[in-house]
Amino acid sequence: MKIIIQTNKIRCDVGKCKNQARYSVAPEGVSPSQYINICEDCATEVYSALGKHLVPKSPKNMLAKAVKRGNE
Ligand SMILES: [Zn+2]
Repeated sequence: MKIIIQTNKIRCDVGKCKNQARYSVAPEGVSPSQYINICEDCATEVYSALGKHLVPKSPKNMLAKAVKRGNE
């Protein structure tokens, strides 16, 4: 999955947003017509909304789990 800085004048794909897309989300092996195009504002909103659901895995916790498993 790549993020491309969009230079073409295409519209943001988010709901009723009429802004010009600033980024394109480009999965591997997908043609440009299937990219998800998103403007700066929506990208920021999506990012913060996703952040509430996706918690980055903490290496410390993973290590603690591995140690615990080792002791069993
Ligand atoms: Zn938008």
